[in-house]
Amino acid sequence: MKNLLKPWQASRRPQPPPPCDDAADRAQHRASVFEDIERGHSGWFWATDAAGCLSYISPAACERFGLAAEDLIGKPFTSLFETDPEHPGERSDRPLQFLLGAHARLADVTVRLVPDRCPPGARPAWWALSGQPKIDVARPGSDGAFHGYRGSARDITLEYERRIEDSRLAEFDSLTGLANRHRISRRFDAMLAAFKGTLRPVTLMMLDLDRFKQVNDTLGHPAGDELLRQVAQRLTRVVGTVGDIGRLGGDEFQILLPDIEDRGKLGELADKIIGLVSQPYRIDDNHVVIGVSIGMAIAPFDGGEREDIVRAADLALYAAKHGGRGQFRFYSADLKDEKEERRQLEEALREAISSVEGDADNWDEPQLAMVYQPVVRTDDHVVVGFEALMRWEHPQRGAIPPSVFIPVAEDTGMILQLGAWALRQAARDAAAWPHPLRIAVNVSAVQFAHPDFPRIVSDVLDSAGLDPERLELELTESVFMGDSETTDAAFKALKALGVRLALDDFGTGYSSLSYLRAAPFDKLKVDRSFVDSCTLSDQNSAKIIAAIIGLADALGMETTVEGVEAFDQRDVVCAKGARFIQGFLYSPPLEQAVLLERMAAGELRIPPEGPKRHRPERRSVYRRIGVIHEDHRYEALLRNLSATGARIEGLVGVPVGTSLVLDLGAGQLAVVTVSRSEDATIGVEFETPLVSDGAGGLVTRYRASSYALAAAARMVSTSAPQFLEVEVRKRA
Ligand code: C2E
Ligand code: MG
Ligand code: MG
Repeated sequence: MKNLLKPWQASRRPQPPPPCDDAADRAQHRASVFEDIERGHSGWFWATDAAGCLSYISPAACERFGLAAEDLIGKPFTSLFETDPEHPGERSDRPLQFLLGAHARLADVTVRLVPDRCPPGARPAWWALSGQPKIDVARPGSDGAFHGYRGSARDITLEYERRIEDSRLAEFDSLTGLANRHRISRRFDAMLAAFKGTLRPVTLMMLDLDRFKQVNDTLGHPAGDELLRQVAQRLTRVVGTVGDIGRLGGDEFQILLPDIEDRGKLGELADKIIGLVSQPYRIDDNHVVIGVSIGMAIAPFDGGEREDIVRAADLALYAAKHGGRGQFRFYSADLKDEKEERRQLEEALREAISSVEGDADNWDEPQLAMVYQPVVRTDDHVVVGFEALMRWEHPQRGAIPPSVFIPVAEDTGMILQLGAWALRQAARDAAAWPHPLRIAVNVSAVQFAHPDFPRIVSDVLDSAGLDPERLELELTESVFMGDSETTDAAFKALKALGVRLALDDFGTGYSSLSYLRAAPFDKLKVDRSFVDSCTLSDQNSAKIIAAIIGLADALGMETTVEGVEAFDQRDVVCAKGARFIQGFLYSPPLEQAVLLERMAAGELRIPPEGPKRHRPERRSVYRRIGVIHEDHRYEALLRNLSATGARIEGLVGVPVGTSLVLDLGAGQLAVVTVSRSEDATIGVEFETPLVSDGAGGLVTRYRASSYALAAAARMVSTSAPQFLEVEVRKRA
């Protein structure tokens, strides 16, 4: 017992002399002091033998943790403690084992008691161990032999739990439980560092919820919080174990996806996320509908450092958000100026609106106009009405499509003015048409949600002198987001006016049947996307068209099928029960002057006219590309591009069947085979079809690493070129 305390004494500052001088009394007194300490729960003592087995443990420690001392004495000391299950990889017993093995001093080493040693149901207990090895060095002639450890222990369970909780809070978002900005950034850095040497790719997806602010503003912050929680759950469901999800704050999320560089797969995943997040949410008693935009950038192709990739994904997100929302976009170098571009667009739109607003003093050339696309009855080709579509002709930039400017107008609130103008103009024009021709006008959800909307409609009808029965308002499912009371009131007010209501783009959104039951629609418009693919044999689109028409019939609603361009599509949709069609096969949108002329001539029937078969859209492009054949690189002009093939101008004498590599820029190399060759024009087919870039463009699935590109650039021509390169001028 005497020796046991020696190390302690050695490390202490000089103590005042004990109150008694008898040696035996002193030893007894010392023992009672330590017993008091042991019982006082402020600390316990332990000792091991030279083999590392427990030789002493304070009885109070055993009492406190329900340990049976007789089971422990003689057992390896380290068998009392175990790995931290919360932090696998940080084996809490490793430093202990290591230190004991090295006969080193222990200073507050954190360990966890093995639960098996404690009574069943006891909560995990954490100890801080301190101790000294007992080594014979002081005694003359001693060999420095190791005799085991003497040490103390403290219960630090509460302290430790608090520490874990603090670090969890510092790493995770308390609202959704997802990683927070700090953690996801660290993960990203770690991945980039680990992948650098091996050139493994990491994709960063940046997500931003569309219309989240409106939910927060109309339903309050607790509803907004609940929505974020549900979004987080859905994201976790789609992403599963393939990536890491984080919430940066607000309605911004990030997803890290290691080892996927196939942009086809990334696009599919993004589409899945958009689809799932856009499904309606039930929050309290409200139906809430939001969307999500996604920007993606891939290391190492779009940059090597985290900052580069974040900036690139951010630009892509910006482009996705302003390209019509509910979209994804991959980063590409030409996105750089989109922010500035957007600012200019807003300004230009403001000018465009003022060019048509105001009184006769407005001398500006009107930039906006309404055009009207006929809706035709399929059995006799009689025109039953028209859809009003807005056109913007910018004095310098030319035509800007509604898919570009309508979202800008919605974001900035200009849609209220713009929409009211469209309604006025369309009603005025329609009032000049013969009865019973109808006019359908598109109404944005932002307009619909405005409490003044029914009054505006009523004023427009009055001043145009248009029968309400002849006005149809085309709404999209996004009108159902937010406050259901306001929505219900608007529906009631509009129905009371006697106008007709159509649900536009049906099938593309959430297509919840409960909306159809709740809202008084007179018509469903089947979205063009179904018609586009209805003639493809492996698609379900034709069946979906039939189902939508059947559903509308059952609910006593009409249907119009949009976007019929060819006879084969007409045949399919008519076979599925379509009675009204709006599409280029009958007519594009027409100007009022043209309409009035035709109406005056009594032409109220339009026979279909157009291609027999629908051909998937080929995009016209004028882009310089590289064409690599054997060890030669030629310059040529890309004129036409689809997912499966392209037309290229500028090469003469390329035999059909030749295999080429197209360098489409930014690391996009595509292997193609020449399928057609005529003068300076060749047609090629892609070995691997291109995939969507999320914005109506096409990109290669994979990109060549910067190494392969550098190697390609170094490629030196050793023989004469086999094909003639000719200059092709960009046509106006
Ligand atoms: P929407 O309401 O679904 O209008 C139908 C769109 O399909 C129109 O495009 C029309 O030109 C196009 N389309 C019709 N038939 C065919 C066809 O056979 N083939 C092809 N490829 N396209 C066809 P547009 O005019 O570019 O308008 C796009 C969207 O912009 C509209 O979709 C609508 O959502 C919005 N929009 C247009 N004008 C207005 C407006 O005055 N107010 C509001 N709020 N939105 C508008
Ligand atoms: Mg429409
Ligand atoms: Mg539509």
